[in-house]
Amino acid sequence: MPDNSQTQARVFFALWPQAKSRQALHKLALAIQPQCKGRVMIADNLHLTLLFLGEVERACLPQLIKAADQVSAASFHFRLEKLAFWRHNRIAYAAPAVDVPSLTQLAADLRKQLKAAGMLRKSEKFAAHVTLLRNVVQALAPQPITPVIWLADAFVLVESVSTEHGVRYEVLHQWPLNASGGK
Ligand code: ATP
Ligand code: MG
Repeated sequence: MPDNSQTQARVFFALWPQAKSRQALHKLALAIQPQCKGRVMIADNLHLTLLFLGEVERACLPQLIKAADQVSAASFHFRLEKLAFWRHNRIAYAAPAVDVPSLTQLAADLRKQLKAAGMLRKSEKFAAHVTLLRNVVQALAPQPITPVIWLADAFVLVESVSTEHGVRYEVLHQWPLNASGGK
């Protein structure tokens, strides 16, 4: 594969868990590993993708950041209450048990602003989830978990960097979600 990393960056918008939620999710991943035989994600990499963009020109990053500046939302709490498995990509993930309107809205607002700025090609439908294990061998039945409470008080633009030791995520920009939702 040609190395385009000088001119291109693989980027996505996400929520990053606070230490307590991160540890709880990582503990859960370790607990189910013997049963499903997947590759446990390292704790620091755990996140919830709001919008995946893929490769963009580095020169376009300021424009991307400017578009996301238009998103304005209040901070909110939500709960991850179930564990489930996607067969098509062999991922085990934690997810909310019900729709979280603030989360769905945030993902939709981001999509809207990036679209308006002409910076969004086709993108997948938003599915709130946190990948806990990859390359899962043994299918997992959907199951309730002890709820993991997550405070969403910021969203981030992240670059996904491939290294010989696996993927590394670098935060390029952070937007706080304030208490009132105003600017
Ligand atoms: P790797 O691909 O090296 O195993 P990764 O999947 O964590 O690692 P990326 O492929 O860069 O790294 O993906 C970054 C984030 O975006 C992950 O949460 C991933 O699930 C999500 N993602 C990747 N591709 C898509 C896509 N086509 N649509 C929606 N989300 C995606
Ligand atoms: Mg991937």
